[in-house]
Amino acid sequence: MAGDQLDDVEELRALVGQLRTNLEARGRSGLVGVVVTKGPKAAPAPAAVPAAPVAAPAVEHAPQREHADAHAEGGEVAAPKAKTGKVGLQVVRDDLGDCKRCKLAPSRTNLVYGVGNPDAELVFVGEAPGADEDAQGEPFVGKAGQLLTKMIEAMGYTREDVYICNVLKCRPPGNRNPEPDEVASCEPFLKRQLAAIRPRMIVALGKFAAQCLLRDDTPITRLRGGFRSYEGIPLMPTLHPAYLLRDPSKKKLAWDDLKAVNAALARVGIHPPRPPAG
Ligand code: URA
Repeated sequence: MAGDQLDDVEELRALVGQLRTNLEARGRSGLVGVVVTKGPKAAPAPAAVPAAPVAAPAVEHAPQREHADAHAEGGEVAAPKAKTGKVGLQVVRDDLGDCKRCKLAPSRTNLVYGVGNPDAELVFVGEAPGADEDAQGEPFVGKAGQLLTKMIEAMGYTREDVYICNVLKCRPPGNRNPEPDEVASCEPFLKRQLAAIRPRMIVALGKFAAQCLLRDDTPITRLRGGFRSYEGIPLMPTLHPAYLLRDPSKKKLAWDDLKAVNAALARVGIHPPRPPAG
């Protein structure tokens, strides 16, 4: 298949994933006749007002899902079937393959896909792999990653309980900022990862991830701390661990954000496996 056609297929898949997530959220909010069923995990929360911050997170009690596929009620709306969880993530990984879609491919050592629980309630999204991540093929394993691990553990989780990934799967040379064509190539795969995991909450780490996922160029210092919505899933923008390493006085702000995430999840009966710190 020609490169253009492949791109089209990927774009289509991303759109299908988005459509499905939206249909699920709308179905749960009673906007369309879609019944959502899935495995042991409850459905993601309905959308908050998409563009504006919300004072309280948009996490709501949701019915248990028995299976991955959404299906029509009364034959009106038939949501496309998409694989979810471990299988769904593997499908996306297989589609990425030995990716050469953008100019980052030649300089990477490893493509850094994502790590953690394929059925996670909570997903952390960063910007792009750095040198350590590129070398090891795993996100957030360098100094910033070690701080992120501590933050996750302070919330009462481990890295294995949650899912961690980035907007870009390959390291930009010298850790420069991601460029628009790179994001355009890679973001559809992030969308599909999130559609496969269907988390109840996303934490966007730093300016780039938050602005990219929210399509909002508000500075992270103003975005952070307020719940937003990504494809119907509550999203908390917070400060990037690398920024916190440069300015440790801001750690308290990030911790406040993560406590708000725990509190929002607790309100719908989702608790970390271990007691959170302080
Ligand atoms: N910074 C990121 O945003 N992601 C990583 O994986 C590592 C550092």
